[in-house]
Amino acid sequence: MKITQVEAIPYNIPMRKPLLFASGSMDQADHVLLRITTDDGLVGIADIPPRPYTYGETQQGIITVINTLFAPFLLGEDPFNRNVILAKMARTVGNYATKGGVDIAIWDLIGQSVGKSVHSLLGGFQDSIRVSHMVGFASPEEMVAEAEEYRNDLGITAFKVKVGRRPVSLDIEACIALREALGPDVDLYFDANRGWTAEEALYVARSCADINFLYLEEPCDALDVMGRRRLVEKSPITIVADESVPSLGDVARELHTGGASAISIKTARTGFSESQKILGLCEGLGVDVIMGNQIDSMLGSVATVTFGAAFRHSSRRAAELSNFLEFGDYLNQEPLVIADGKIAAPTTPGLGAKIDESKLSHYRIDGK
Ligand SMILES: [Mg+2]
Repeated sequence: MKITQVEAIPYNIPMRKPLLFASGSMDQADHVLLRITTDDGLVGIADIPPRPYTYGETQQGIITVINTLFAPFLLGEDPFNRNVILAKMARTVGNYATKGGVDIAIWDLIGQSVGKSVHSLLGGFQDSIRVSHMVGFASPEEMVAEAEEYRNDLGITAFKVKVGRRPVSLDIEACIALREALGPDVDLYFDANRGWTAEEALYVARSCADINFLYLEEPCDALDVMGRRRLVEKSPITIVADESVPSLGDVARELHTGGASAISIKTARTGFSESQKILGLCEGLGVDVIMGNQIDSMLGSVATVTFGAAFRHSSRRAAELSNFLEFGDYLNQEPLVIADGKIAAPTTPGLGAKIDESKLSHYRIDGK
């Protein structure tokens, strides 16, 4: 099997409502659909989300990197030589989402070629995974109403609350309102997207000790090295690293230097291959992981559930899988369904998702 064509297709889908968080906002998904075709007619796909406020990648930048740096060595390569492809991509620094997308499309081809789902090839630990829903910035009343809607309509009982606003009392008030409304049995955790200083984060962690929340994610900038170490040492709650750990090496550094006590794994930035290495490192060190969401489309979420449900250590906690519901539409032929608070892992060969060509024609912006 040889790769014969690599297509990076820009498309825009409006969000139902703007998503607001401490490091940015998003009112439209300006993503890139990657399609890799082989000489035996297979097509591997992946969704690549540009997140300039997190990794510096843009829609046009992703297309340029694929067409000018990656396509030349992908063309003619056998997708089964996955580690050759990963080593060649590693010669380019950064560009995490672009590299993650290539890896996912390659696994899609491998799965289709052997007639097995990627979920099964990765280990197929359980058929489905619990879903956690992210609640963005709003008034406490609106945040409670959103969480109650997702719990009542979809059976979701885990919520990640976006925090990181100033004054911190805004967030503390919202978090107390959520705990009071949702009761003691719902999982709650917070994500500040570097919105606070280490001392502000420590104040919130102590102030919210009675709310019983599981994690505080990326509360302050990990580049504030000493502040971050002080916070991890003193915080009564586990500190999750997310955007500070876009690669295996970053995970190792943050865990070994006291910058974090749990890790968010996102297939959108470490694909399946590097996510496996991160998962193994964390499991060996006794560190919790959360399957995170890079504001993934439905196609991106297929990759997260495929990976998250495949391993014991990544399926212990609810995975962040509901952001695709905020998108105005999706490119998948078959929609992902959240039922009883869970999503089932695809069972068809490869990634288990196909593109609706008429929708792609409608949303692509390259005039093709
Ligand atoms: Mg995060």
